[in-house]
Amino acid sequence: MKNKKSSGKKNPAKTDSHTENNLLSLDEALSTLKTTRSTLYRWIAQGLIHGVKAGRQWRFEKQEIERFLTGQAPSLSLNLGSSINSAVQALETLNPSKAQQEYNTAVSAPDCADPLYALAGAIIWAGIELGASDIHIEPQSQQLRLRYRIDGVMSDPVELSTKLCAPLAEKFKSMFKGNVQEKNLPQDGRIQLKMNSQPVDLRVNVLPSLYGESIVIRIMPAHRASVSLEQIITQDNQCEQLKQALGSGYGQIIFTGPVSCGKTTLAYSCLNHLNRNGVKILTVEDPVEQPIDGIIQTQIHPSSGRTFANIIRSILRQDPDILHVSEIREEITAQICANAALAGHLVLSALHAKTAAAALKRLADLSLPPFVIADSVRLIVAQRLVRRLCPYCRAERPLTENDRLRITRILEAQGQQIIELPETIPHAVGCDKCKKLGYQGRQLITEMLRITPEIASALARNATAEELQAIAIGQGMSSLASEGMRCVTQGTTTIDDVYSVIEL
Ligand SMILES: [Zn+2]
Repeated sequence: MKNKKSSGKKNPAKTDSHTENNLLSLDEALSTLKTTRSTLYRWIAQGLIHGVKAGRQWRFEKQEIERFLTGQAPSLSLNLGSSINSAVQALETLNPSKAQQEYNTAVSAPDCADPLYALAGAIIWAGIELGASDIHIEPQSQQLRLRYRIDGVMSDPVELSTKLCAPLAEKFKSMFKGNVQEKNLPQDGRIQLKMNSQPVDLRVNVLPSLYGESIVIRIMPAHRASVSLEQIITQDNQCEQLKQALGSGYGQIIFTGPVSCGKTTLAYSCLNHLNRNGVKILTVEDPVEQPIDGIIQTQIHPSSGRTFANIIRSILRQDPDILHVSEIREEITAQICANAALAGHLVLSALHAKTAAAALKRLADLSLPPFVIADSVRLIVAQRLVRRLCPYCRAERPLTENDRLRITRILEAQGQQIIELPETIPHAVGCDKCKKLGYQGRQLITEMLRITPEIASALARNATAEELQAIAIGQGMSSLASEGMRCVTQGTTTIDDVYSVIEL
């Protein structure tokens, strides 16, 4: 925008016609939007679309209409309140030697009189208040950038002074009892605090980078294990299908999807569902994310020989009924898990693959013979998280030709029938209740593939993932794409969000 204005000063006549070409009249806007005058006035009043008044005539920027038509979500610009600003100001008013002194005292005895500790606390607290999953403190050449990941999306940055980079890195290292002097090696640690009398569990990673140490703080979700399956899987038939597989007592149930798609949350919820007197449950995890009473949890430690494979072998000698392996990464783990399932254990695990059918192919790539896959696997759950629209500000916008093409492409890519499309689709707006994000939290979408005789024989003839997918859909599997579209037609998420989590 700035460029346009400055070029306008040099050549006003040219810019006027250029600007005029970029402005639509009310009638042009109505025909592009395919809507009525009263609806458009309502959208303007709701702040969904911005127009300018030239005299008594409405004018609309072409880009504004395009933004509205593509349903672009509001950007994640944050109002972090006064806590971080006042902590930064408190630090800036200190002269450098005083700051160093305060800092030295703080390392030995941190308390809230220490302004650096207050700033670290304010940064963490803002993350918790925003419902962020992680906090990123990133040194750049001109500033120290603070960003939050909220519902899977990075916020716009808050810019802090580069002077804070080294002291903050040292402060966080001292908080997780790391080596404060060490600046050349990555360090990991755990911080447990109480904020507003709530326990807060953080995992911190400090990484040396070009302009200083980059810090990522993961906020561990509280009470993950207590979320019920019904709360996570809202589709009744899918929830029932998973419960049946869990209740069968043996075989493998595999959760699949990319990083951060809710696999651990769903696995913990399943363990919680299974956790009762009368069964013995053992887990092998990297890392143990949440302690669960009544379950023996083990963390791998490859440098001291505690690999997934070694631990699973010992665990099987501990006579478990149920085994949870947080991730299958290599052939040996895949084989031990399959053998344990064939020997009558119930094995829950996670695997990286895009779809349930692709997970079957991945098991074959890990050298499992087709008959072992067919006999050991009970259910594959492919999953994604989509953001949930804020119920206070969500709005509808007309379905455009572009939307139609995108929906058709999503469904066709997964071998799904094209559904009848609605005339309007939901759209993110942003209000005070959702901190202007337009979304509040996320919901899980899943596709569940069972091994039927047809799938087993397709595996035996080395069918492709697409063929396996087509057979499963023919046998009634609802794909991730159609589950995503169901959420759009039910008005709980946007097509953009579905599109962004289902790779094509
Ligand atoms: Zn809202």
